[in-house]
Amino acid sequence: MDRAGKRPDNLTLPTAYQVEPSDLGRFTTGHAPYRVKQLAEWLYRHPVLHSSQMSSLPPDVRTTLEDQLWPFTVEIEQSADSGRTRKWLFRAEDGASIEAVLMGYASRTTLCISSQAGCAMACTFCATGQFGFERHLDTGEIFAQVAYANAALRDNPIPDSPQRVTNVVFMGMGEPLANYDNVVGSLGRMIDDADMAARAITVSTVGVVPGMRRLADEARQVGLAVSLHAADDELRTTLVPLNKRYPLGDVVAAARHYFEKTGRRISIEWTLMSHVNDDTEQASKLAAIARNLKAHVNVIAMNPTPLTPHTPPTPDRIASFVEALTDHGVQATFRETRGKEIDAACGQLRIRSAANTEQGAREQ
Ligand code: SF4
Repeated sequence: MDRAGKRPDNLTLPTAYQVEPSDLGRFTTGHAPYRVKQLAEWLYRHPVLHSSQMSSLPPDVRTTLEDQLWPFTVEIEQSADSGRTRKWLFRAEDGASIEAVLMGYASRTTLCISSQAGCAMACTFCATGQFGFERHLDTGEIFAQVAYANAALRDNPIPDSPQRVTNVVFMGMGEPLANYDNVVGSLGRMIDDADMAARAITVSTVGVVPGMRRLADEARQVGLAVSLHAADDELRTTLVPLNKRYPLGDVVAAARHYFEKTGRRISIEWTLMSHVNDDTEQASKLAAIARNLKAHVNVIAMNPTPLTPHTPPTPDRIASFVEALTDHGVQATFRETRGKEIDAACGQLRIRSAANTEQGAREQ
C-alpha cells in the first residue's frame, strides 16, 4: 500500500475487512442477498478466527473467505499477567507491521490498537518513533485488530473479564490524527457496524492540532487523550519534535476546543522519564494546564527500550510526581505498565522481530 493507504495493483484482492460493508456481496456471488447480511454479522458482530467457523454460510463462501478474511497474518502472539495481557504482531501482505495489545480487567477488556505501521513523529522516548514511518493503515486494517481480538477472545476468553473488547484506545503504533480519514472510517465500523459505544473509544494524539479541531466536529464523539509529556515548549520540543510545528499553547487550545465542543473530558497522557520530566517544576506546570482543561492526568513510566536514551524513574520519584499533581488539586492516576515481560509497549515487538530477523541473517 502507498502512504495514502491505497492498495497497489500487484497485491491480491482486498480482504473481507478491507471492503466497505455495503460491498460484501462480492464474497457471496450466486447466493441470496440475505447472505451478505449474514456475512456482515460474522465480520462485525460475532467475529471468528477462521471462515470455517461461519456456520450459517454456504460452504463455497466459507472456502472463498479462507484466504480473504484477515488483512494480515499473526507473526508473534504473546501472553503475560496469567493470560490477562495479550499482544499480537500482525504482518500485512506488503510486510507492514501492526501491533495490538489486549488487557483484561474486572469490568472492561481494553484493546490498544495501531493506526499506522511505524510513525513519523519521532518522539525520543518511543520505540516506534525510532523506527520511522512505514505507511498508514487502511480502515479495514485498523478495524480488523478489534475484530481479531474479539475472535481470539471467543476461542480463549480472559477469566473474570468481559468476553468482548469493551474499550478501544488508539495508543499503539502511529499518530492517529495523521491518518485521519482511515481512523474516522474505523470509528464508524466500531460504532455503527460492531455496535461499540463511542464513549468507550479513545483516540490519542501527540498534538496534531488541525486533526484535534476536525475531530471535535465529527458526529461520533469519542474520547480524546492528549499526550503532553512536557509542560513547557523548551522541554517538549526535545521529546516531541512535532511541538516545533504545533507548540504547547496551540495543543492546549485545541484540547480546550474539543472539551467545549463535545463535553467529553480530555485526558492528558504523561510518560515519565527519570530526571527528564519527573520533577516538581514539571508537575506544577502540568497541574496548571490540567486544571485549566479540567483534565484527568494518566501517568505511566516509560518502558525502557534499547533505541532510546531515557529510563523509567524509581518508584519513589513516580510517587512524588503523582502526589505533587494531587496536591495541586489535579486528578491523576498512575497506570502500571501491563505485560512488561512481553514487550507490551508499542514498537517493542517490532524491535524483537527485527532483531530476530537480523540475527537470523547473521547466522546464515
Ligand atoms: S509516542 Fe506515539 S506519536 Fe510519538 S513516535 Fe511513538 S507512536 Fe508516534
